[in-house]
Amino acid sequence: SGKLYLVPTPIGNLEDITLRAIRILKEVDLVLAEDTRTSGNLLKHLAVQTKLQAFHAHNEHRALQSTIQLLQQGKNLALVSDAGTPGISDPGFLLVRECYVHNIPVECLPGPTAFVPAIVKSGLPSDKFVFEGFLPHKKGRKTRIEKLMPEDRTIIFYESPYRLVKTLEQLRDAFGADRQASVSRELTKMFEETRNGSLEELAAHYTKHTPKGEIVLIVAGYNSKSDTLGNVDEAYSEADDEE
Ligand code: SAM
Repeated sequence: SGKLYLVPTPIGNLEDITLRAIRILKEVDLVLAEDTRTSGNLLKHLAVQTKLQAFHAHNEHRALQSTIQLLQQGKNLALVSDAGTPGISDPGFLLVRECYVHNIPVECLPGPTAFVPAIVKSGLPSDKFVFEGFLPHKKGRKTRIEKLMPEDRTIIFYESPYRLVKTLEQLRDAFGADRQASVSRELTKMFEETRNGSLEELAAHYTKHTPKGEIVLIVAGYNSKSDTLGNVDEAYSEADDEE
């Protein structure tokens, strides 16, 4: 059979694509894309002439069968998302799982994904974290937030600019006004901005200044020592502990 490649693409800055990603996109028989127009522009920019086909989130279940058939016929396929790494708050997981069911090899190239630069530059502990993706919009939202309150690892959320203030306020009410957080907007793009502060301060700021663009919200864990430097040594002390 052929092979499935998961190929990360830039989250803004078009320079953030690896040499291997470009080569794989050129070599495969077909590129499966969330949005053929978005990915069409990228392929054009990279001078990749491989044919594109839609692989939609809403028809991921249906798209599976035909994709598996192509792979079984020996075709090598690359799955890309609009931005970042497929399978991270984007379609991919069902297809990967189905490949294993049919003994089809899978390879995921390392590359851009929004949460890694966001947590690393947040200044909050990055030795242990949980990725929450998008909070549910309505049903289950409150329960989710309450469940996360005592989480002691740094928490990562994806958020839309329209919902950021609401989320900051709800987190502030559930976690406490002093809990530290970091908002990264438009990572790798012209208007990249990271703002750190308490949930209270960030909610107040973005109420006054309506946020624009794509957002990653990082929230310190429960009882995190993130506002002292105390945690820094801890984060690097693994080697010492083993002595
Ligand atoms: N697959 C992508 C990844 O690997 O990060 C995530 C796709 S998800 C549908 C889109 C969300 O990712 C946005 O709403 C935002 O929360 C985050 N995101 C993507 N690009 C970003 C950027 N340049 N700056 C900040 N957040 C970004």
